[in-house]
Amino acid sequence: MTIAIYPGSFDPVTNGHLDIIQRAASIYDEVIVTVMSNSSKKPMFSLGKRVKLIEKVTENLPNVVVESYSGLLVDFADQKKAKVIIKGLRAVSDFEYEFQMALMNRKLNPQVETMFLMTQSQYSYLSSSVVKEVAKLGGCIKGLVPEGIEAEVVRYFNEH
Ligand code: ADP
Repeated sequence: MTIAIYPGSFDPVTNGHLDIIQRAASIYDEVIVTVMSNSSKKPMFSLGKRVKLIEKVTENLPNVVVESYSGLLVDFADQKKAKVIIKGLRAVSDFEYEFQMALMNRKLNPQVETMFLMTQSQYSYLSSSVVKEVAKLGGCIKGLVPEGIEAEVVRYFNEH
């Protein structure tokens, strides 16, 4: 049984993330989408809310579970007996950072392998921050985030 962890901030989950989740779920026995708290970013949605929203959009995927974690990712992988960390790659600009993280994680725990999935070209420009930027300025985010997430993001910016 191979368990994979797919970490990120998912603030909010986008169609790019969902595509990676679906593809990872077709490869690994179990995928644990892990919502990480990032102290350097002030999030739109709380950790708990982000977990709930991802659960909602992955309810049709029986081997996907969603959790949150605020420690060292490789420790979480150990705890969950996960051998794989999944990362999505969009452009060369993602590469340098992800390369550094993958090497650091390997140094911290050589038992855990980082695997990269390339984005689908239609999502290569998509990031949570771009979604927030567009929604904040009143632009349409249909097709960028899963159905059900759109209204939540729009509501947030109407209230803030
Ligand atoms: P973002 O970069 O959108 O703010 P996260 O930090 O939550 O999102 O990203 C979590 C993971 O998902 C990272 O490995 C990131 O490279 C990947 N990812 C984000 N957006 C996409 C996308 N559109 N296509 C493929 N992978 C993506």
